Amino acid sequence: MKIFTWIISAVLLVSCATGAVLVEPEKVPVITPETPETVIVIKPEAAPEIIPEIRPEDPFEYALLGVKNNTALFRKSIKNNAYIFPESGFRSIDDIKVVGEALIDEKEFRVTYNLANAFSVDNNTFQIPFLLENLTDNVSCNDELVWSPAYDEVGLLLSFDDNYFDGWARYINIFDKHDAKVTFFVQGDISGDSDDAAVMEIFCRIVLSRGHDLGYHTINHPDLRSISIDKFNSETKEAAQVFFDAGIHFNAFGYPYGFSEDWMHETLAPVFYMTRGYGSNTRYYNSQTIRNGYLVSKAIDNIMFPDNEKFENDIRFILFLAKFSGDCIVPFTSHEFSDAQWAITPPRIEYLLKTTNDLKLKFYTYGDIRQKFIQQ
Ligand SMILES: [Zn+2]
Repeated sequence: MKIFTWIISAVLLVSCATGAVLVEPEKVPVITPETPETVIVIKPEAAPEIIPEIRPEDPFEYALLGVKNNTALFRKSIKNNAYIFPESGFRSIDDIKVVGEALIDEKEFRVTYNLANAFSVDNNTFQIPFLLENLTDNVSCNDELVWSPAYDEVGLLLSFDDNYFDGWARYINIFDKHDAKVTFFVQGDISGDSDDAAVMEIFCRIVLSRGHDLGYHTINHPDLRSISIDKFNSETKEAAQVFFDAGIHFNAFGYPYGFSEDWMHETLAPVFYMTRGYGSNTRYYNSQTIRNGYLVSKAIDNIMFPDNEKFENDIRFILFLAKFSGDCIVPFTSHEFSDAQWAITPPRIEYLLKTTNDLKLKFYTYGDIRQKFIQQ
């Protein structure tokens, strides 16, 4: 697949001050069984933006004009090529495609955007090949449209897990530099007088004072599916209460290893508002599906992308596709900032933040999502 050969910038892979510390690797959940194709993102159908006076009589000409001008005539959605269970998202970026559908004069039209072969005309303009089909009459044509991303509600929901408080604090300026807001899902306990408790509490206050956000991630990082209900409560709700009493609030809960059962979402929602899993696949949420309050975030750790060029191409493609499809939020998660396996290197963070800004995506925290979409 030829993807964005036009943008591969030479980002140096530097080794990190923190070194390769391997701490409690998180397992990627097993992918659920396959079922037939499904639509993940649906943009509400709006009135066509072409004024009636200039509407060509021929429906195919009208459809072509709508696609080339990127009007709302076609309802865009993100679809699978392969058969994948909807909640499991997309295993490979090759499986993801954006299509648009429209009914014009009782004829069924479909446009398939070839985003993998898009190329940049200049910094903010892309040329995108597409295939337009009149499915009713079995007529089709290939053409290209010119598209420029504009600011809207499409965004990145970026988070980091566990207890790398010193390392995170050392690099926190990276986010200011790119005007980015992120969420740290912190693991640990601030009760008692230990140094660890003090470090954690200071970190939490730094995060909040700088406009970032916090989620909670248990005291001891257990697999919550395999402990007693008493232990479940003490690791989640009761543990978080100590933070609340200290004026430190959480807008979400991150399941250790991403592992959960359905009942946990309901049990935790009154306290944490949102719950978050974790997996290797890419998932796109829209303004409807994100209201569930439970979402699964894509792992962007170094171990998922041993090759730097693949990291950059995949990340850029995933974000580009979100932006082009519209009404879309993409959750990403990593851990430490380093060159360890379950971590992300600072140059990769920089690349991610810069690309998010270049494509005019918004940065969301879990608090932003809660305020905007979750009615609690
Ligand atoms: Zn974790």
